[in-house]
Amino acid sequence: MRTSNLARTLREPAELVEHGLVRRDELTNLERVASRYAIAVTPAIAALIDPEDPNDPIGRQFIPTGEELFAQPSERADPIGDEAHSPLPGIVHRYPDRVLLKLAHVCAVYCRFCFRREMVGPGKETALAEPAYRAALDYIRTHPEIWEVILTGGDPLMLSPRRLSEIMADLAGIDHVKVIRLHTRVPVAEPARIGTAMVAALKVQGATTWVALHANHARELAHEARAAIARLIDAGIPMVSQSVLLKGVNDDFAALEALMRAFVECRIKPYYLHHGDLAPGTAHLRTTLARGQELMRALRGRVSGLCQPDYVLDIPGGAGKSPVGPNYLSQDSLAGQGEVAEEKRYRVTDYCGDVHLYPPA
Ligand code: SF4
Repeated sequence: MRTSNLARTLREPAELVEHGLVRRDELTNLERVASRYAIAVTPAIAALIDPEDPNDPIGRQFIPTGEELFAQPSERADPIGDEAHSPLPGIVHRYPDRVLLKLAHVCAVYCRFCFRREMVGPGKETALAEPAYRAALDYIRTHPEIWEVILTGGDPLMLSPRRLSEIMADLAGIDHVKVIRLHTRVPVAEPARIGTAMVAALKVQGATTWVALHANHARELAHEARAAIARLIDAGIPMVSQSVLLKGVNDDFAALEALMRAFVECRIKPYYLHHGDLAPGTAHLRTTLARGQELMRALRGRVSGLCQPDYVLDIPGGAGKSPVGPNYLSQDSLAGQGEVAEEKRYRVTDYCGDVHLYPPA
């Protein structure tokens, strides 16, 4: 049985109990979780959750559990090191040609594994105040190497279309900003928000808009979500995906394959599969890098190249993203076979695991 026809977003543990999404005996623990981390389950997401299944892959992403109260020693409040690269509020400048612009601190839903869980949610500053926003724009204006601005947060599509359209125009008015990318969960979590006004707000003269959709299970790409995505893409806005590898959600081959195929069917190019970040209280949702590599190996060759994301790890502390997928190429020394030691032939592994030799030049 699913929790369909909700009229509003559930934000309190007691509401989750009332709608059968958590057991009453979990309430005390969940009140403790809620005092620390935001909760939001929109009607669209609630309709996807099977309350009879305690391991439902959608539920695992959005329904809080008492496990969130236990942080591991390796976990940290700012797991990907945004602060270390923040020259002023709202800006993260980690790589030369692009910046993050964090405008909003609220999201339609709150993911239990969120890497910014200590910064997002009600009670945090809800949006970058006007003077801070102006200072952030000045920073972008005075750094001509910035080619791309990535709106993230929080979810930028939680802003009103009117405000978003002003921001898009401000950014596109900066000569060297050629690409504006928005990272969002809204087409899945609140598809009705992607209406005519929102689509119009995202289209701007002077820069190209890209939308990166965060989704982790094929069931999230339900009928309404697919229609919202189509509204964006039909308007000429290209889309890519980002997903997080999550235990019990997509850490098996069939689930990952179905997710990547669903993206491509929706005209979304799979872009990133993130290894789970070391956010506090999220160990129960992380899997190992070895498992991630095994899954990526299984995807390769068995699923269209269009469906292959980059498996990446954000190095804790702020050193940036690195690809951590399996390696298919190594070099083999010919020393001892009458050849010079420096001359090495390549060993290339195919998708079945068979190794083939390739000449050095
Ligand atoms: S939508 Fe993004 S920023 Fe918001 S809670 Fe989920 S992962 Fe975090």
